[in-house]
Amino acid sequence: MACLITSPGIPHLYPTPHPVIARALEGGVPVDNDIGLFFQSAASSDWAEMETPPKVIAVTGSNGKSTTTALIHHILQVAGRPTQMAGNIGKGVLSIDPPMDGEVVVLELSSYQTELARALTPDVAVFTNLSPDHLDRHAGMGGYFTAKARLFTQGGPDRAVIGVDEAEGRFLAGQLSQGPMDDRVIRISSGQKLEGFGWAVFARKGFLAEWRRGRQVAAIDLREVKGLPGAHNHQNACAAYAACRSLGLAPKLIEGALDSFAGLPHRSQLVGERAGVRFINDSKATNVDSAAKALQAFPKIRWIAGGLGKEGGIAGLKPYLPSVVKAYLIGHSARDFALQLGDTPHEICETMDRAVASAGAEAVAGEVVLLAPAAASFDQYPNFEKRGDDFTAQVKARLG
Ligand code: ADP
Repeated sequence: MACLITSPGIPHLYPTPHPVIARALEGGVPVDNDIGLFFQSAASSDWAEMETPPKVIAVTGSNGKSTTTALIHHILQVAGRPTQMAGNIGKGVLSIDPPMDGEVVVLELSSYQTELARALTPDVAVFTNLSPDHLDRHAGMGGYFTAKARLFTQGGPDRAVIGVDEAEGRFLAGQLSQGPMDDRVIRISSGQKLEGFGWAVFARKGFLAEWRRGRQVAAIDLREVKGLPGAHNHQNACAAYAACRSLGLAPKLIEGALDSFAGLPHRSQLVGERAGVRFINDSKATNVDSAAKALQAFPKIRWIAGGLGKEGGIAGLKPYLPSVVKAYLIGHSARDFALQLGDTPHEICETMDRAVASAGAEAVAGEVVLLAPAAASFDQYPNFEKRGDDFTAQVKARLG
């Protein structure tokens, strides 16, 4: 059967269908992607002879997908389970090695991928959270949510881990379960107490708690987990914890694995520490939303920001400025950002080396030097990774 396989960047409906896809659909030719092919062909006949057939965990959501996926993969490695990571992170799904006995394949899937795949049958599916993104491509928020929800509604995973901090997550959890006590759904939250459900994992004030049928069964102190700072990362920790518990891993083992998670490069990544000052690289915070999460993650911040600012600059960050001791501004938007900072102390540094030098020299014990630019990198760097690498190199050069 003829089938057109497309890459995720190519629109099939909105804002306008790509002409090749439009031609295929006019001729009745099915359109699919690598994720659809993967799920159609994943289970081979020799799986039946394995003691523990391989499983697939798939992670989607607006933010935290990569961190959650990498964290699940790390926990499984610590547990000694064979595991591979693929999708939007690591290898392409069609490039993985044939899974072996007991293996767990962990996939990160974007809305572009879940929207089109003709088969979506993970054993465990994870939904971290939802906030507006790619709205052109999905013709609005409803289309965006529906694209992500397909991961749960096409095949029906054995277990669904769902972030219920937005209305959409609560709706999805409700649709998938028979009632609050149905433990096919594990609800997760950063901030809410979820005690009245069949199965829930939530983080509050730095502590993760697992509740089953009205009883707390485990708790973990996340406050000193260096690779996962801030409430947003605690949400990721809850999601990864829940996915791994659904495979039967023990809470103590997961707790140890959280401690040894180094964090992903450029996402709240600890790159150096001296005399009680931590240096954190969150170069991936290219917009106001993700910079807001980073600014909420630490109490006293020497903030390196700027680059190619987006519309509105940093006006949306006003509520988070009280934790900024001083801002060190770089790049094209440095002067615009300075105007928006008002009373918050700041200095125009222009370049990363001057910003790191100034912030590093002025920081005192208990403070964090944080790169969370709230701007794109293209005025000074080819991409956000190179910007984060530069920050890291400058920090390492100064710390020796
Ligand atoms: P994704 O793969 O979904 O883009 P990442 O794990 O790569 O997510 O994180 C991207 C950015 O979003 C990071 O800069 C980080 O500060 C922020 N972030 C990470 N996890 C969350 C979360 N659970 N909620 C909101 N923001 C998050």
